[in-house]
Amino acid sequence: MATGPSERRNPTKLTCRNTATELEEATCDTMILPIGAIEQHGGHLPLGTDWLLVQQWADRIGEVLGAYVLPAMPISSSIEHRLRKGTVYVRAATLGRLVEDMAECAASSGFRRLIVLSVHGGNWILKPTVRQLNRDYPQLATVLLELTHVSSAYVGHLEQPDCDIHAGEMETSLMLHLYPELVHEVEADCMDAPYPREYMDYFDTSELTRSGVWGRPELASTEKGEAVLRSIEEAALQYLDKVETAFHRLRPR
Ligand SMILES: [Zn+2]
Repeated sequence: MATGPSERRNPTKLTCRNTATELEEATCDTMILPIGAIEQHGGHLPLGTDWLLVQQWADRIGEVLGAYVLPAMPISSSIEHRLRKGTVYVRAATLGRLVEDMAECAASSGFRRLIVLSVHGGNWILKPTVRQLNRDYPQLATVLLELTHVSSAYVGHLEQPDCDIHAGEMETSLMLHLYPELVHEVEADCMDAPYPREYMDYFDTSELTRSGVWGRPELASTEKGEAVLRSIEEAALQYLDKVETAFHRLRPR
């Protein structure tokens, strides 16, 4: 019988609270680098939404894989939100360099797989960075896992997935499920961005929307959050499994 992620959880979760000896004795060969963001999420979600969510995602995957889960990097490439107070960001190239350095650390200390986990859609630099890392460190399989890799698994739980870009139905549902105490009342008619997503290449979100929201947070619910989280976790593990199989077949080590 197939087992779900919760049944496959590893009782030994490896984090920086463990000692180096414990990690070595666990023969742990996978390191997970979660990448969050500190950026405006309208008036109803906290600045650290992506940071909180990516750590939850990483912890869940890490428990199943018996991986070493790093504390999520809080700051990434959020320049499009820069006009709202509290948003902090690094330039895209800086984020790329940080991930390169983390890959060097993983390779130096004997890890054989690095999973880069990101929930913030603006971290475009991660794709070319990971593509390069797999050539620079052939002994380390570096896998990029973003929400776009698993979106087909969760869109069915949303009523308006097409306009769900930022602080909308999905993110608000996840926060209602995991951190209800941090979710404030949703402003009425806050979806006011009649532009395609790529306009963030030209404008800041404060220019494109009045509220900073891009989606329909008023449709969010705790139940949707729970269902989305379960789908994301399951789809992520399937994706990682597939990529791992391909690495074994195409690049045996
Ligand atoms: Zn977010």
